[in-house]
Amino acid sequence: MSTNSNCSSGCLTKDHATYGECLRSKSLRIAYCNSAGGSDASRQKRWDAELNEYRAAVSQGIEPDSTATRDIRKAVDWSEKTGVAYSEENRHDYRVDKALEKVA
Ligand SMILES: [Zn+2]
Repeated sequence: MSTNSNCSSGCLTKDHATYGECLRSKSLRIAYCNSAGGSDASRQKRWDAELNEYRAAVSQGIEPDSTATRDIRKAVDWSEKTGVAYSEENRHDYRVDKALEKVA
């Protein structure tokens, strides 16, 4: 059997259909562990969730434009769509590659 290329290297189960699904399962696990700690402050939870999502993305080699949830989601969605870990540099390279494909 070949390795499931949809999964990140840190993935334990290697059974995800897409790279994004793999990332989401990872951040969900982290979020669960944190809420089990029992903080009642929902603002703190939201903040933790945002940071956890950011950390999960970064641990996959993704570099969101900021720690804001919308930027993290954007970066993860892009990674899922392209199969490439998002960063400003990778996004640029990917665009160049696509442009060259059209010319070829
Ligand atoms: Zn996975």
